[in-house]
Amino acid sequence: MKKINTRKTPVYRDSGFYFENAEQTSQAFEMETEQPWQPEHYIYTRYRNPTVVSAEQKIARLETAEWALLTQSGMSAIDLALSLFQDQENQRKWLFFNDIYGGTNTYIDHVLIAKRGLPIHRFYQHNNTYDLEELERQFETLKPGLLYFEIISNPMLIIADLEGIMGLAKKFNCNVVIDNTFATPHLLNPLDYGADMVIHSATKYLAGHGNITAGVICGNNPGLLKQGIEYRKCVGHMIAPDEASRLEDQLKTFHVRFEKQISNADYLARILQDHPHVDHVLYPGLHGHTTHALAEHMFKGRGYGAMITFDMVGANGTEKKNRRDAFITRVSDHIPLIPTLGDVETTLLPVQAVWGDRYPFPGMIRLSVGIEDTTHLEKTILGALK
Ligand code: PLP
Repeated sequence: MKKINTRKTPVYRDSGFYFENAEQTSQAFEMETEQPWQPEHYIYTRYRNPTVVSAEQKIARLETAEWALLTQSGMSAIDLALSLFQDQENQRKWLFFNDIYGGTNTYIDHVLIAKRGLPIHRFYQHNNTYDLEELERQFETLKPGLLYFEIISNPMLIIADLEGIMGLAKKFNCNVVIDNTFATPHLLNPLDYGADMVIHSATKYLAGHGNITAGVICGNNPGLLKQGIEYRKCVGHMIAPDEASRLEDQLKTFHVRFEKQISNADYLARILQDHPHVDHVLYPGLHGHTTHALAEHMFKGRGYGAMITFDMVGANGTEKKNRRDAFITRVSDHIPLIPTLGDVETTLLPVQAVWGDRYPFPGMIRLSVGIEDTTHLEKTILGALK
């Protein structure tokens, strides 16, 4: 067929790619072992796929990374990232910040500890902040080989002191894997600070429309890239080409979407903070937030993210819960309860209903702010808080 003058990357749905002869086949398989990131010939979509590669290059650019590998979900990206360090780091301890996505905490308990028997430790926050001196003491005691945290934590929105933490990691020769889903490359690129690997649930802000499930790992180290391609191939974490293509399209509006989400969130956080039915608001952009100064320094005026966690007033847990439930019912026509985040539409989640005892706050709601008209959002929320 004549070459077509298209600007879009075609969606190559081939599950396998054809060869002219046996010699070409053996050359391709040889290359696949030696230089899998530079295939002269594609072999099989579970290994590499040109549509997926095109989307990966866009995300690598966003994260100032040498390379990116897409996967079927954020969780498969986490599994891919952490499995790569398992060969080299299963003697030394692994340290995870405690306030991270609940699914990641479940993965740590059910897979890393229960199935793989890894020596995992957790680092706990106090008063909604992670203390650097306490972290240094943990480093001295544990001498961890791997550290894992989120830049803006889910759901308490604690900012991790990236410069301080990377200084410690360097001093103690510790690998660092960072989940940048909430901060996104719009606010900060962790690889620029020396992180070894960055992961995203691309399901969230990168895709942004609640219609794709995907994950990605990004890095600079060529050895990790080679191992990453090999592991993804072996366990089948590869994203489908159709999903990669849709993600690539939706990435084109990422910065515009996220800027509007940030400005809406900033506006709403201030309104919520002043409302008599709201007990307190966790939003890094508010001066009263425990890690506000850190966020200001790290994000350099680009904003404070688009997630808000807030708690209802109430004399006791039951009153708080009743107020939360009434709010959810009243607001549901405009702001649905959906257990995801990062969409262009505002969504909410009752924190305790999902994470139970881990977050025993019956009145607490996590709001993922979308790109809707600000006045409309304000009216909707004020109307439902009455
Ligand atoms: N990381 C964070 C911060 C998340 O919030 C989530 C999901 O909510 C994940 C990772 C997992 O992503 P996925 O649901 O795409 O597997």
